[in-house]
Amino acid sequence: MEIEEYGEKFASPFLKKALKIHSDTRRFMSDFLKDRGFIELPPVIISGVTDPLNHPTSRSQIEIYGHIYELTKSMIFHKQLALHIADKIFAFSPNIRLEPEKRKTTGRHLIEFTQIDVEMRNTTREEIMDLGEDLVIYTMKKITEQDGDLLSSLGRKLKIPSKPFKKITFTDAYNEFSDKFEEELSKKAKEPFWIIDIPLKEREFYDREDPKRPGVLLDMDLIYPEGFGEAASGGEREFELNQIYTRIAKKNQKPEQFKWYIEFGKKFGFPKSAGFGIGIERFVRFITGAKRIEDVTPFPKGIGEFFPL
Ligand code: AMP
Ligand code: MG
Repeated sequence: MEIEEYGEKFASPFLKKALKIHSDTRRFMSDFLKDRGFIELPPVIISGVTDPLNHPTSRSQIEIYGHIYELTKSMIFHKQLALHIADKIFAFSPNIRLEPEKRKTTGRHLIEFTQIDVEMRNTTREEIMDLGEDLVIYTMKKITEQDGDLLSSLGRKLKIPSKPFKKITFTDAYNEFSDKFEEELSKKAKEPFWIIDIPLKEREFYDREDPKRPGVLLDMDLIYPEGFGEAASGGEREFELNQIYTRIAKKNQKPEQFKWYIEFGKKFGFPKSAGFGIGIERFVRFITGAKRIEDVTPFPKGIGEFFPL
């Protein structure tokens, strides 16, 4: 992106409106969680350990004082371990992911984005999904009240979803629509819905396998309607050390990659928890109806190009 293009972007009425809505979205999500007793965890940007993710993104590392730090891909490990401090936590977590070039034109991938990452001790997937529904509904309602005029001027009318959101299993969705099931279902849907029971090989080692149904994870994705695609991912977490080792091995990964997480857990325990992460820019894109995720933020970092600011 050229410097002149920032001038155009900043002068665009769309960005002015989207940024106000972006700012309010963060406020309402935070208000909602704090009102429910969640404590905000400051973001972690560099660490000795980060999310391996299930899709290939090159590792992004920096060397400081002769030690290698990973740039945060998600705060999954930090939010779990922080449950030793408080039972309900969340963070606005800036993530860096060197996404593959083929995601350049999806309209919903950046290489730098923020997710609101939520985790709660001693809770089930069902309870955390219920919380996620309330969070999305609350935020959409507040934005409609607070920024209704802005939304109308963007030609956007939001339908406030009703609870409970529909659920479809990964396997049923796949059987019906094959590879492109998420896209197809998202296009058809009028309200957000969940995809649940994602198979083990599709996700990272830390999502808990259902003890009653081997190979099936107690996890879920939230999908926006109108073709906006994935909103959030989450689930219950593995908390048994032997399972953690087994699952890392099944991914052909090495425990050394997660050394600091495992060492901490061995000493102090892995909390039994569930949680999810909602991408903020994607949420704002959905609320505003923006075509591209780049349009809802002033300094986007898109895929495969240099964005100097
Ligand atoms: P994940 O746990 O990988 O599903 O990430 C959590 C959430 O962050 C996703 O559901 C998206 O809303 C958001 N997200 C993930 N990757 C990106 C990306 N490259 N650009 C923008 N948002 C993203
Ligand atoms: Mg996901």
